Amino acid sequence: MKICKVCAQSDMLCAACQKKLEDGQIKQAEVDFYRAVKELGVELVDVLERGNRLYVIADSNNSRKIIGPGGKTIRKISEQLGKQIKVLEKTEGTDKEVIEKLIGVPVKGVNTVYSPSESYKIRLDKKYRKMAEPLKSVVSEIIGKKITFVFE
Ligand SMILES: [Zn+2]
Repeated sequence: MKICKVCAQSDMLCAACQKKLEDGQIKQAEVDFYRAVKELGVELVDVLERGNRLYVIADSNNSRKIIGPGGKTIRKISEQLGKQIKVLEKTEGTDKEVIEKLIGVPVKGVNTVYSPSESYKIRLDKKYRKMAEPLKSVVSEIIGKKITFVFE
């Protein structure tokens, strides 16, 4: 989480978070999302902006709260912020299990590549290309490793 717990629950930013916003480490839309869900009392792993889309990463319990009954809550927030919002679920487990849950499709295998620096080659069935490819940078940021998808 790039914003501190205090700021995630308040309407103001502390000096440290304000500086991150000014330096571009946090984006305004990400801060806006924390503000929008403040009343829900949810805990988020992270919020990442990519283009006009916000990726919200949370565990299954918090994901359910953000989505709301029949998707009602998430639709409201989406309209309010003028952004498409996609909730990605993060579980505990091996990197393979975490990646599988994040992208929501079965992973055939995760190969570690050690050159030039450590990264993951994630093997997926080619029918999931359209679903998985847009999530590459988000998955990479969440697991803290460079990744490439291989569709086979
Ligand atoms: Zn703060």
